Amino acid sequence: MSEATTGRSVLITGGNRGIGLAIAKAFLANGDKVAITSRSEVTDLPAGILAVKADVTDEASVDAAFKEVEAAHGPVEVLVANAGITKDTLLLRMSEDDFTSVLDTNLTGAFRVLKRASKGMIRLKKGRVVLISSVVGLYGSPGQINYASSKSGLVGMARSLTRELGARNITANVVAPGYVNTEMTDVLPEETKDQYMKAIPAGRFCEPEEIANVVRWVASDEASYISGAVIPVDGGLGMGH
Ligand code: NDP
Repeated sequence: MSEATTGRSVLITGGNRGIGLAIAKAFLANGDKVAITSRSEVTDLPAGILAVKADVTDEASVDAAFKEVEAAHGPVEVLVANAGITKDTLLLRMSEDDFTSVLDTNLTGAFRVLKRASKGMIRLKKGRVVLISSVVGLYGSPGQINYASSKSGLVGMARSLTRELGARNITANVVAPGYVNTEMTDVLPEETKDQYMKAIPAGRFCEPEEIANVVRWVASDEASYISGAVIPVDGGLGMGH
């Protein structure tokens, strides 16, 4: 008999816009209790989504956000580490701060929320972790040495977590989006967009909902035996990587 995969306490970091917001809506439609973190005040979220303030580069702020979510929805059973930034520039122009600040948000930020969430999951004797990586984590990308390093690091994180906590009914997977229409990609130069479009076998960019559906599924009971996997959602862009 499978357990119910609805009504769970779900937390998505960086859920006020883009892919994170689409993921929040997907879990809400699934009947889960959904909370998102945001650094700024959010006013226009769909009814039913709890917004808590958190900066994933700050452990105390992460802890405070978890306490708020736990008080409202109970221990977090599904964690989606989605918060991420880019600071693109070529290696020779990349400052150490350009590198470490991207790592601090994308990789150490995921570590901070994962560590905080794992306590509750161990007590609950169940949990689902989904780390939002990127096709460029394994494919590589000029001008993104910082970002690609942070995103491939998430693969080692999910796989190590799987080996540490896999026997406790906790799964950890990586979803690796390709080019998705959000504010993050809006700012890319037209030339870069054209290059991506030519390289994507699907011949189009991805919508945030197409990422959200896969995240919801990999956190569902249907995916109970998938852990440590890297699931590409990229229209074929990264095939073989
Ligand atoms: P957006 O730029 O639209 O959203 C980024 C989100 O991350 C925002 O909610 C932002 O919150 C949050 N965030 C950034 N820094 C922090 C921080 N220090 N603490 C807490 N939250 C933070 O990006 P997308 O929706 O496009 O991207 C979401 C994820 O998907 C990212 O990890 C990204 O790397 C990944 N991705 C995106 C792709 C794309 O093509 N768009 C492709 C592959 C992966 P705030 O509004 O408060 O700044």
